[in-house]
Amino acid sequence: MSYNADLDHGAAAPRAEVAVDLDAIRHNVSHLADLVGSAATMAVVKADGYGHGAVPVAQAALEAGASWIGACTMAEALHLRAGGITAPVLSWLDLPDADYAPAVARDIDLSVATPRQLDSVIEATIRTDRPARVHLKIDTGLSRNGGAEADWPALVDAAAKATVDGHLDVIAVWSHLAHGDEPEHPMLDRQAARLDAAWRVACEAGLSPIRHLANSAATLTRPDLHYDLVRPGIAVYGLDPLGRPVPDTPLRPAMTFRARVALVKRVRAGEGVSYGHEWTTRTSTTLALVPVGYADGVPRRLGSRPSGVGGMQVLLGGRRRPVVGRVCMDQIVVDCGDDPVQEGDEAVLFGPGGRGEPTAQDWADALGTIHYEIVTGLRRGRVSRTVFGMHSKGPG
Ligand SMILES: *Cc1c(COP(=O)(O)O)cnc(C)c1O
Repeated sequence: MSYNADLDHGAAAPRAEVAVDLDAIRHNVSHLADLVGSAATMAVVKADGYGHGAVPVAQAALEAGASWIGACTMAEALHLRAGGITAPVLSWLDLPDADYAPAVARDIDLSVATPRQLDSVIEATIRTDRPARVHLKIDTGLSRNGGAEADWPALVDAAAKATVDGHLDVIAVWSHLAHGDEPEHPMLDRQAARLDAAWRVACEAGLSPIRHLANSAATLTRPDLHYDLVRPGIAVYGLDPLGRPVPDTPLRPAMTFRARVALVKRVRAGEGVSYGHEWTTRTSTTLALVPVGYADGVPRRLGSRPSGVGGMQVLLGGRRRPVVGRVCMDQIVVDCGDDPVQEGDEAVLFGPGGRGEPTAQDWADALGTIHYEIVTGLRRGRVSRTVFGMHSKGPG
């Protein structure tokens, strides 16, 4: 995986930033869209595009072959509309007593899981005097969002009646997988069978919805579950849902987290470094201060242990170097030995990996979590975001 030279700023690079490579987003979406053939692709951009920026990611995804955009909430969906996204946008987790009128007015597709929520949506269609586009969600085994199987016939009957009354357009019956990242798990087939049964109930009630089920993992590994539409999220950003190393996947990570060295100094052997002096220099050495810490989303648990074992590394001056001592709120200290590191130099905390920098997967492995949590965990407001590779203009 080669580093994208387009991510170069020149001199005025920010203190700390997330650099987002839209060429990588387009590459990933185009790969996914090719893979699913005649099924449509919904690029999921919830949580501000998994930390990458919902609007620019949605634009890039639509340019590369996605025809739908997925959001978690109506607020996220309306943010996309305000950013100029006119493609179908689905919002899937809103409260039953929410005001659905602004979303209906802006043609946001709404996921509905209960008769009570359906009533709220219908009430909004009457107020706005236009029908709502609805995706009926069935819980097929995740036991999370999605209507209970026992309530399904009532939900479908109510939706069918509201369709006849002109209040609804039932676009889809859909569900979400519990074991998507374990392609051989028997639960996948069980959930698909339950989705099919729920879909047949809707068809028998006179509706003609499409079906969708697959997240990134199932999009990549279970072509039999693509149905009419797939909903990849993490793969859009180039991170493999099965946690495979970057070279083993066709995906390109889009996010680079980097900062600039704020201070360089020479210290003697035997000096304690950072709070509590958990790490002590063994020889005289050059320390580089990188101005990011746990308030920016660098987990404190990535700091080095007294033994110097474990802990995180950064790419600085062409080499991976250890972060020494505790991660503070605003800063980390990097041991550079006798190498000529300078203030203003770029320190890459994680990125695609092609230049030898750590990856979001490395952080996740060290922390016992998943890369999803790493990329969504960087703090906007503290860390700026720069989007590279924009084709069309739009607010970032
Ligand atoms: C987040 C989400 C997705 C995308 O999941 P990935 O694992 O990131 O591909 C798809 N569908 C629903 C309902 C989701 O909440």
